[in-house]
Amino acid sequence: MKYKINTLLLFFTFIFNSVYAKDLMEPTSYSKDLYQEEILDGNYSNNITHPDEFLGFGIGERVAAPWQITNALKTWSTQSNRIKVVEYARTHENRPLHAVFISSPENINNLDKIKNNLSALSDARTTNDRQARSIIDNLPAVAWMAYSIHGNETSGADGALAAIYHLIASIDDDVLNMLDNMVIIVDPLMNPDGRARFVKSLEQYRGTAPNYDDQSLLHTGDWPYGRTNHYYFDLNRDWFYLTQPETKGRVKLINEWRPQILVDGHEMGPQDTFMTGPPREPINKNIDTDLIKWGNVFAQDQGNAFDERNWRFYTGEWHEDLYPGYSFYVQFRGTLGILYEQSRMAEDGVRRPEGTIQSYKESVHHQYVSTLVNLETLLKNSKEMYKDYWDGRKYNVSKDSEYANQTFVVLPTYNNTRLNTLADKLEAQDIELFRNTKDIKIENVTLQSGQLVTNYTIPAGSMIIPNRQPEAPLIAAILEFDADIDKDVLVEERQKSLKSGSSVMYDTTAFNFTMMYGLDAVTVDEHVDSNLETWKPSAVTSEITKDAVIWATNGTDDNSVAFAARLMEQNVEVRIIDKESTLSDHTLARGSVAVLQMDNPDITNLQNLVKTVSDELNISVVSIESGFGPEELPDWGGRHFRLLEKPQIAMLSHEGFNSYDVGVSWWSLDHHLGIRHSMINASLASYGDLRRYNTIIIPSGRSLDDYTADTLFEWVSQGGTLIAHNRSTRFLSSENGIGSVKQLQNTFDESEKYNFDLLREIYSQYENIDKDKTNNNIVDFDISYPWEELEGTLSESELKSRDKWQSIFMPSGSIVAGRIDDEHWLTFGTANTIPVLYSNLPILMARSYVDAPVRIGQMIPNDEIEEPRVINWSSLPAGNDLNVRMSGLVWPEASQRIANSAYLTRERIGNGQVILFSGEPNFRGATLGTNRLWLNAIVYGPGLGTRSRIDP
Ligand SMILES: [Zn+2]
Repeated sequence: MKYKINTLLLFFTFIFNSVYAKDLMEPTSYSKDLYQEEILDGNYSNNITHPDEFLGFGIGERVAAPWQITNALKTWSTQSNRIKVVEYARTHENRPLHAVFISSPENINNLDKIKNNLSALSDARTTNDRQARSIIDNLPAVAWMAYSIHGNETSGADGALAAIYHLIASIDDDVLNMLDNMVIIVDPLMNPDGRARFVKSLEQYRGTAPNYDDQSLLHTGDWPYGRTNHYYFDLNRDWFYLTQPETKGRVKLINEWRPQILVDGHEMGPQDTFMTGPPREPINKNIDTDLIKWGNVFAQDQGNAFDERNWRFYTGEWHEDLYPGYSFYVQFRGTLGILYEQSRMAEDGVRRPEGTIQSYKESVHHQYVSTLVNLETLLKNSKEMYKDYWDGRKYNVSKDSEYANQTFVVLPTYNNTRLNTLADKLEAQDIELFRNTKDIKIENVTLQSGQLVTNYTIPAGSMIIPNRQPEAPLIAAILEFDADIDKDVLVEERQKSLKSGSSVMYDTTAFNFTMMYGLDAVTVDEHVDSNLETWKPSAVTSEITKDAVIWATNGTDDNSVAFAARLMEQNVEVRIIDKESTLSDHTLARGSVAVLQMDNPDITNLQNLVKTVSDELNISVVSIESGFGPEELPDWGGRHFRLLEKPQIAMLSHEGFNSYDVGVSWWSLDHHLGIRHSMINASLASYGDLRRYNTIIIPSGRSLDDYTADTLFEWVSQGGTLIAHNRSTRFLSSENGIGSVKQLQNTFDESEKYNFDLLREIYSQYENIDKDKTNNNIVDFDISYPWEELEGTLSESELKSRDKWQSIFMPSGSIVAGRIDDEHWLTFGTANTIPVLYSNLPILMARSYVDAPVRIGQMIPNDEIEEPRVINWSSLPAGNDLNVRMSGLVWPEASQRIANSAYLTRERIGNGQVILFSGEPNFRGATLGTNRLWLNAIVYGPGLGTRSRIDP
């Protein structure tokens, strides 16, 4: 029975189809007339409201707004006993996220039981083969169908709305049979905030006539575009870092349900066709090959369905699967991931080179048909897939698996905040964590630097993750230091780089948690299972006594920065102890934050403020009765107790800036600090009142015009702290920039000077002097200078040629080692080697009058190296190797190119300073190691790096 459109609806169709105004001309045609196929062509019950009624237009004719989808789900859940709607999370903008369970009424009543059986089938330690067979016999198939994670890729959610209606309203036998044997979970709209932004721009840019020009604003939308969520995060990179509420809620529910397939409906370029799985190489080696086999079965059926309708499609061309943070995350847990990429029609449709117009409605139809075809394929193959799944689950916990003798160890740290964050993320993914109660002696371990160490002792209190557990492949994927890439793929990548500068890598090639988080870790090639207890977070112990002269919190903990920031925002004077100290028997790491009663004579509730803030942040605070540090350790009246200044923060934003970097920096301020700040339109930098701010962040972006650059220079000179990332750093270190930091390619005419300064820096760490020689009164004729034994120093022209060649091989996202200046305030809370995410970044060069708190390359002592050696412009003293690559693809040429360059610089200019990050320190909200450097820059910069202001 076909649904009949009533007259009221026709009225709505008219007014929604164009702007509403009587004095505008009627268009000569409507986009809704382009495509005559009916999407919903089944026989439906009259008791379920047709989607057209919620929308006010025919399904697929236009884009459904998030609130319309929510209304439909609410109404349907009251009309049908085949549906159960679960709100699994709320977005930052407080929109609901839904999982829509659809099945036969009987299955809907038994959802808990079905879920429990799936859990039992997932743990082969507590379920045996016989039980598994019986579970499989009785289990319905389970599918998770999810759409439009990118908010401006709209057709998926409209297709999902049609599919939900079809499944709950159909009176046809094939649907009823499917529901008897399957639980279908539809997540129709994974990113409602992004979609709402795009829907708003559709509304704003709509004229009277339909628009088929994919360059028009109607199609593109505007900055920051609809792809991302409220904080401009790409939710399809967040599946295991779990930083956003959408992902946290969704992954939790998916992990509980363990569906057999997970469909993820996207859109791609408007002039493209349709793509589905399976992916091409590089494919992460931790994915069960059974899934690739099944991926082909689904793709084949889907292809046949498209062929029948004369719809063009392809599989795999650009779709790789190395990075585990896509929706393909589920594959590491045994679920088949299926990707749809439909060419993007925005709303009306798109004119193509052959002159035809592909309508939006047709794109919705593609999503809809793909959905139903995939469900049919699952229905046919569900039992076989369950059997493969069960085999995989048995394998994961068996002592013969490739994971069985692999244990990941995170070493103890006082950085409880960061360690607890890691534990939360891992536990959210059903990963079992332990702590060793005693030291454990291990024969062989691999360090993050790649070094193998024998006879290693894992200190008591480490986080131990033995990988003989149900989620072994996932654990390996997100914790192994290096994701293996096949040699053929490397060959292809290298050939492509040389031929055209292109890449087969679609995303970053390094992503493991411990390096991203800057937590020291080792991998053990054995199964560690003795002297372990279940992991618990360390207890927070605060003793905040009234008669203390100082309350202090350990600077190693990341939340100490927020402690300082949140107290300063409440006008508390705060100090930082810039050197390790011991006061009243409490040892405080450098960077510890101290509140002194005598600094705050007018604050009567100081003790309570300190307590409230430390409770909010879950950090320990100690009370110190005496400001006397024994012997040479800092005392409270000395220069190591440095007064901070309240940061007043602005961040430049808008068109021209990288929205991801703007968004993640904005999120980092709100997530890690929660203090006030302003995002300002970058054009304001030239005419606004910058005196309101003492800290300005310039996220990765564009060049500034001369006038803006001059204004900022003036502002810095007056005492401002300017912090820039990546492309903005590229600009600031260029000829028209601010300060004296240069990029590598502009320094070859003075590379000796840079090397001279670098050697000063390196030798300043050396401890070996010959005292007798030093005290000899006779002039020594036998002094060795660092550059004298150096062979093979390169000429300027050779350096230039090398640089051109090496620049072809810059990484597209990998982790390299940063060595830190452990006396610099920017590196508070940071271990001696900090893993740094690196891609084609500006390569920063700093002379000795510029601080370089983080440089690329970890010095590794090696006694066999008897001569100093040359690396491009720089040199390395005898007795050392330099470790650059830590994880991911870094060609040897690239390692040479970036070796010894600065990742982070800080330069005093007038009364202020410029702090340059070569990269994006907050990438995806997951690079907690470099995030700490950034938080230090923002919160401590105004107090430590600029000349203090004194109010007259
Ligand atoms: Zn997408």
